[in-house]
Amino acid sequence: MDYQKIIDGLHQKHSKEINKGKVASYIPELKKIDSNKFGINLFTLSNQSFGAGDYQEKFSIQSISKVFALTLALKEMGEKIWKRVGIEPSGDPFNSLVQLEFEKGIPRNPFINSGALVICDMLISKLKSPKTEFLTFVRKLVNTKDIYFNEKIVASEKKHGFKNAAHVNLMKSFGNIKNEIDVVLDFYYHMCSMEMTCEELSKSFLLFANDGIIPYNNERIVSLRVSKRINSSMQLCGLYDEAGQFAFKVGLPGKSGVGGGIVAIHPDLYCITTWSPKLNKKGNSYLGFKALEAFTTITEASIF
Ligand code: GLU
Repeated sequence: MDYQKIIDGLHQKHSKEINKGKVASYIPELKKIDSNKFGINLFTLSNQSFGAGDYQEKFSIQSISKVFALTLALKEMGEKIWKRVGIEPSGDPFNSLVQLEFEKGIPRNPFINSGALVICDMLISKLKSPKTEFLTFVRKLVNTKDIYFNEKIVASEKKHGFKNAAHVNLMKSFGNIKNEIDVVLDFYYHMCSMEMTCEELSKSFLLFANDGIIPYNNERIVSLRVSKRINSSMQLCGLYDEAGQFAFKVGLPGKSGVGGGIVAIHPDLYCITTWSPKLNKKGNSYLGFKALEAFTTITEASIF
């Protein structure tokens, strides 16, 4: 399979639609990005990297970080985490408060905002210096020191994150947040602000294509069973209330973020990441979704 040719072709073809969608504006700092950026990278388990466009440029990974948080929580605390967060698709937008009240402060899944906030709360209770250890963990997955939080984005989210504050407060009232609200939000915003390239993201997700083992150093991070759980969580809940369409049209587990990134995993083969900041109505990258759909169509690759 000539991945480079396919990716170049997809980049060229979909660049024509670069005007479709809208950059996330509810976090003002995200709006400053050049909305014409478009990158694609595929990284294989055999250590080959294929890229097109802006695939080596850093961007805010936003909710993609929720996969790292879930993985670290499962690594540190095991499956008892599922007592405080569920694993069903929400069918609602990522920041919806509606279900949380009648489900008594237990979020539907770890990838909606409330679920990720509970995971952050658990990590704060467990780790000595959560932000540093989180950064160290992600840097290890990529084998680089060149990954950082963006403090401007953190500040912007803190200033405008009224809904996230509402989520934490509501969950605290049900006893499902143990730490101080400001501490939980600070950690959550830091992890969302993390900046990575498409190539780094593909590389960092390879352990999920490799049964829980980092391929470059053979270090096992989670068991085969837990790796399967993380992939199935992505398949069910990784693209907010568009996860069904993503399974239907792309056919791979994946995770998106409002910074415009989407990472998808083909178990035993590769990870593929797209980045284009303009989002569709569901908050997923317009071009990224289209390019991934075309990619699995052309390569006839899917887990189904
Ligand atoms: N930091 C964003 C928020 O809390 C993450 C949203 C996302 O990427 O889905 O609203």
